Amino acid sequence: MESTLSARDRVGVQDFLLLENYTSEAAFIENLRRRYKENLIYTYIGSVLVSVNPYKELEIYSKQHMERYRGVNFYEISPHIFALADNSYRAVRTERRDQCILISGESGAGKTEASKKILQYYTTMCPTRHNTHYIRERLLQSNPVLEAFGNAKTLRNDNSSRFGKYMDVQFDYKGAPIGGHIINYLLEKSRVVHQNHGERSFHIFYQLLESGDNSLLTRLGLQKTNPQHYHYLVKVCVCVNLKVYFSFVCFCERTFELLKVVASVLHLGNMQFGVDEFEETHVTTDTQLKYLAELLGVAGSALSEALTHKKLVAKGEEMISPLNLDQVLSARDALAKAIYGRTFTWLVQKINQSLVYYTSKCSSVIGLLDIYGFEVFQQNSFEQFCINYCNEKLQQLFIELTLKSEQEEYEAEGIGWETVEYFNNKIICDLVEEKFRGIIAILDEECLRPGDASDITFLEKLEDTLGGHAHFVTHKLANGKTRKAVGREEFRLLHYAGEVNYNVTGFLDKNNDLLYRNLKEVMCQSGNQIVKQCFHPDELIDQRRPETAATQFKLSLAGLMDILILKEPSYMRCIKPNNGKQPGQFEEVLIRHQVKYLGLMENLRVRRAGFAYRRSFEAFLQRYKPLCPDTWPNWRGQLLDGVSTLVKHLNYKPEEYRLGRTKIFIRFPKTLFLTEDALEI
Ligand code: ATP
Ligand code: MG
Repeated sequence: MESTLSARDRVGVQDFLLLENYTSEAAFIENLRRRYKENLIYTYIGSVLVSVNPYKELEIYSKQHMERYRGVNFYEISPHIFALADNSYRAVRTERRDQCILISGESGAGKTEASKKILQYYTTMCPTRHNTHYIRERLLQSNPVLEAFGNAKTLRNDNSSRFGKYMDVQFDYKGAPIGGHIINYLLEKSRVVHQNHGERSFHIFYQLLESGDNSLLTRLGLQKTNPQHYHYLVKVCVCVNLKVYFSFVCFCERTFELLKVVASVLHLGNMQFGVDEFEETHVTTDTQLKYLAELLGVAGSALSEALTHKKLVAKGEEMISPLNLDQVLSARDALAKAIYGRTFTWLVQKINQSLVYYTSKCSSVIGLLDIYGFEVFQQNSFEQFCINYCNEKLQQLFIELTLKSEQEEYEAEGIGWETVEYFNNKIICDLVEEKFRGIIAILDEECLRPGDASDITFLEKLEDTLGGHAHFVTHKLANGKTRKAVGREEFRLLHYAGEVNYNVTGFLDKNNDLLYRNLKEVMCQSGNQIVKQCFHPDELIDQRRPETAATQFKLSLAGLMDILILKEPSYMRCIKPNNGKQPGQFEEVLIRHQVKYLGLMENLRVRRAGFAYRRSFEAFLQRYKPLCPDTWPNWRGQLLDGVSTLVKHLNYKPEEYRLGRTKIFIRFPKTLFLTEDALEI
């Protein structure tokens, strides 16, 4: 049996557990740097895979590469995403244990590319079941479709996912992929109506204008002109994949209806309004209104009325009042965001329906989570608050699933366990989500309060309620708890990964995410089949307030945790090496920052404190029996005795290993690597 590691694969250490100086961040980064220079973008921390975005195509993802990783253990071969994929697959295949692969990292670090590679691995390497080819195709095709609607060019990433995604790949009892299911989280809808300088709206708008043929565009009332013609878009920069991707979008029987919705958002953006001598606001762009009415299948007059007036129902009576120009523009934007956001969710549902395979039962699943990493910008707002809260929850899960389960395994095997100190971030999760006194509860309360509620009164309420909390700081409360200054309109959270200041401006509006009732009424009557499904009349009957954005997010995260806690996790941490999207550039300051926010040093410390590797007696004997004449070619006695004989022959020192009830635990990775090397000789 040969080890598949070449000399080049061994630049630095391929597992950070092997670092002599494992508490040194400098040594950690130096190891990453040395390997990155040799295009070795993957390194482990035990079972956690760390990757550094190469920003160039590497020849390491072919089918031959996939084959090299099939059925092979981590330490036998150079680190790779396929090893992670295969490891999870084996647990599904042989033990039917549900798995999940959690991918994190900041924007542009390579999460989505990684999740696509894992999916490719499964669709290429797993056995096929009769009649399931189309499911494989659809699993693969779901990505370009979702990316068209949910991704955009940002300053950080030309193809940035603006939503979180969890995807289950379902396998039957023979290990064939037979279906899938996607859950989407918090789409950044505000991008539909506004983009920061240098960024763009969602790809689909540009794809439609660039690649849609003339007759299609005419039917949609669009012109193949510069996208700048459309108020909601900025200048297009040519994107090579537009055409290819557009063909993927045309995937379902409702494609034309879908494109009508996309076009209607563009028309909405081009609607203009004027104010007459009675100070009433009117639509002045009749052509746009006509197109819009046609595309959405609604009466133009009803739409124009609903855009310029607000209807309130109080004590059973309807009251209609005109909106001023500013209010009209924000009602229009709210409608555009609502239509687009709901259509995105509709699209995910459609894809899910197409991924159901009826004739075979799902035996186990592998879930892939591609979700926003910690975000710390100059200015952080409601969105960063939600995203960072999500990361706190995932860290909680990591603690629950990894640290606690490790402890349980030692107990089950009868191995003495030394407690390892780590920071339990439950206190921060509670700070955000606790009933009544958590930040989200206080925000919701301010959103509901009639009268003078504002972003600032929200901040004051936070101060009153959370003033004494160890992880919460504001300008008034700063008294030495943190180093950096806190602005007057900010609060700071001391997250597990570091400190972040949030500016409260816009928190109430974003959390309310209001759409006036009369606009909803018009949409409920839409003749467009998709819009009709997205706006249900029940919404109008239900007198309760819809859940706020933060509460919806909190509930969907709780749902995600329920899904993940039942699965065995694997972790991938992606690192972005530079801000210029350049190959070969390793910017140390930027990387150090990510090593910190990804919690990699703590991860390493905790792993080193326990046993680096564990293997069942059977697997250990099977692999290393050639190294000892007493165990080769076969050991006929008790497995425990066989392993004992083998490690004595290999001169393992007592402090290097423990024998449990069914497994051998090896404390230092070096021990195992030396044993691996011995196989080569
Ligand atoms: P976001 O949070 O913005 O969605 P992300 O972490 O999903 O970011 P990706 O879109 O996966 O980032 O990667 C950004 C870009 O980096 C890709 O478009 C691709 O050009 C490059 N890239 C990422 N991973 C790899 C890889 N393994 N090989 C080659 N290029 C890569
Ligand atoms: Mg992404």
